[in-house]
Amino acid sequence: MQYFGFDAYEKSIQKAGMSVVFMANEGEHDLIIVAPGEGAEYAVNPGFTETEQREGTITAPLNHNNAQILRKLFPFTAPIRGLRKYRSFGVGDRLGIATPGHIRVFEKNDVFPIFAQQSIRELNLTGRTYEDVLDAVSFAVFREGFTRGFGADGDHLKTVKDVEYALSLGFTMITLDCSDHIKNSITEENAPPLPPKYRDAYLGKTFNIGEGIALSFTEAELRQSTAIYGEALNFAVDMYRRFLADGKYNADFEISIDETASITTPLQHFFVARELIEAGVSFATIAPRFCGEFQKGIDYIGDIAQFEKEIQVHAVIARHFGYKLSIHSGSDKFSVFPAIDVETRGVFHVKTAGTNWLEAMRVVAQTDPTLYREVHRYALAAFDEASKYYHVTTDLSKVPDVDSLSAGELPMLFENNDSRQLIHITYGLILSKKNPDGSYAFRDRLYTLWRKHHEEYSKTLEKHIGKHLALLGV
Ligand SMILES: [Zn+2]
Repeated sequence: MQYFGFDAYEKSIQKAGMSVVFMANEGEHDLIIVAPGEGAEYAVNPGFTETEQREGTITAPLNHNNAQILRKLFPFTAPIRGLRKYRSFGVGDRLGIATPGHIRVFEKNDVFPIFAQQSIRELNLTGRTYEDVLDAVSFAVFREGFTRGFGADGDHLKTVKDVEYALSLGFTMITLDCSDHIKNSITEENAPPLPPKYRDAYLGKTFNIGEGIALSFTEAELRQSTAIYGEALNFAVDMYRRFLADGKYNADFEISIDETASITTPLQHFFVARELIEAGVSFATIAPRFCGEFQKGIDYIGDIAQFEKEIQVHAVIARHFGYKLSIHSGSDKFSVFPAIDVETRGVFHVKTAGTNWLEAMRVVAQTDPTLYREVHRYALAAFDEASKYYHVTTDLSKVPDVDSLSAGELPMLFENNDSRQLIHITYGLILSKKNPDGSYAFRDRLYTLWRKHHEEYSKTLEKHIGKHLALLGV
């Protein structure tokens, strides 16, 4: 709509004192505008920087300071805690452009969204910062007038420095990645002797956790559990006391033990949860490593009946202690979503990330076949390098040859698991690839395309994330 002579986003119009603040589009970019409200003589700048005066209004660019001012002025643009709600769902947006599409999905579904969710690895691979990640979300939430609240997850954090970085910016969720402290190679046979405190607390006891489920440890099982998770527990307790105990920072705490080689058995999950609670750690979620494979960007691989049996016990453990199960690598795990919904009774946290990137690349395949083919060929060349960082079973021989596909057939590559994974795991290399002259090979062209086709991207996200939520019973 036209408003004060600007091409304004209608849903963004808000009052601030005697002024009105809104967002408008100006070709390649968006602007914040402050205009005089009813009865006001002039617009008052609430602290925006790099401003310009324009016919009685003040215009401000979308920079970090202005995002901070916006969050103060309109608290709905700042993240809040929401993991204690029944259902929460993370949509990591590696590109900083997906939130308008995500808002369309969450506007009509009763589930708490985590719009800002990135790991340090993702930041490194995309050349972004947490400031940038959070600001992109705040601007989008303001633009779309989404006032219901959202969370910001410092995902898979491993160090004091990184946790502090996310918290100091106002992130409202910390996912502590304990994987460096989990000793997977320990078996029942090679585990060191059992520390006496655990013997007294666990051996010869039966833990009735309700719903007909009783857990007990053999000495060998307990010895193995303590040896695998002992150091990880110390790490989690230390980080909790450092940052979150006594309300030092106001954030939900997730314990992630999923990025490890071996499966978390229900008994090990119980042990970890019980020890954390005994140590006084208050946490919202635990992410175990489930049986089967949660590979990136494709459906579940494994025995679904076995998964259903195990998640049932995991869910009872979580209910018993009063936290939620967190399911990582939740992109496209359509065949197990119904079981997750049923067994958790609709109380869960699910994270997705890669699928949002894949949908952005689907838009490229739909709208610019030449650019898509170029990126695809580069991804094939970069695959070996990228596969060092991901566990995938991609068979490149099953990826159709892009040069023999017609333009209209290219989007079908996103129905093929092998080509999905090819594009999924190479995202960092694609986005950072430079030409000999130092300019980006693809990045700028891709962003230009996404800016131009933002409506298509929003539509594809609405459909695709909507499908996730529907199968999760939302
Ligand atoms: Zn994870």
